[in-house]
Amino acid sequence: MKKILNMALIGILVLGLVAVSGCADTTADGATEAETPVYKIGTEPYFPPFEYADENNEIIGFDVDLMNAIAEDQGFEIEWKDLEFDALIPALQSGQIDVIASGMTITEVREETVDFSTPYINAGLALAVAADNEDIKSVEDIAGKIAVVQQGSTGATKADELKEEGIIEEVIYLAHVSDIVLNIQSGRADFMINDLPVTKSYISQKPGVIKIVDDQIQSESYGFAVRTGNTEVLDLINAGLANVQEDGTYDEIMSKYF
Ligand code: GLN
Repeated sequence: MKKILNMALIGILVLGLVAVSGCADTTADGATEAETPVYKIGTEPYFPPFEYADENNEIIGFDVDLMNAIAEDQGFEIEWKDLEFDALIPALQSGQIDVIASGMTITEVREETVDFSTPYINAGLALAVAADNEDIKSVEDIAGKIAVVQQGSTGATKADELKEEGIIEEVIYLAHVSDIVLNIQSGRADFMINDLPVTKSYISQKPGVIKIVDDQIQSESYGFAVRTGNTEVLDLINAGLANVQEDGTYDEIMSKYF
């Protein structure tokens, strides 16, 4: 009887050990995978060269590589979430995502609802028209014209200001840059206001559709955004950004996309 009890006890012990060793995978450096934080990062992946889908439908781009490099440097993992640009801040606030990496310009108005990382690139707004447009040669020629912009973008805010000042006639808001260009091509709108690097990238991919008539109607810088007060994630991003800028990774990513 005692022997049987002992055997049973050993059996329980063995089972217990198996259970303990099976509950966390151990990585090469000894850390358990369960300890690696995973952050959900929201992006609108129709904004090349910052974020866009490749032929395999993988999200790639400058922001994506940069954020992946920061994650590797700081030891966290990323789950990418595809959202419309104007849905990003609400998604951050509701906790659906932890970070925005989407060519987002740091503005005072947005600073009221999110916290931004240190700026990671300078961009700015450009004015573009159809390649065969002889009418609009600069920002001086847009009186009475129709603008097309990306909804929720700083380009939209700029166009709203021009409309409020009574300078332009109408503003059309669309979700993606490709749709904006279609409206220029069809003549539904006269000009677009969008980020210079993105407008330039479109022109190099599809020459002869649009042209830039003013490449600096507003200067801007992009930042990664976190929920207000989320210093835990913000500190990781800022530290990682500083490290990848220092070790040359940032420059490599820069020359890959620009
Ligand atoms: N930089 C612009 C903004 O922040 C547009 C960004 C975007 O469409 N991804 O509003």
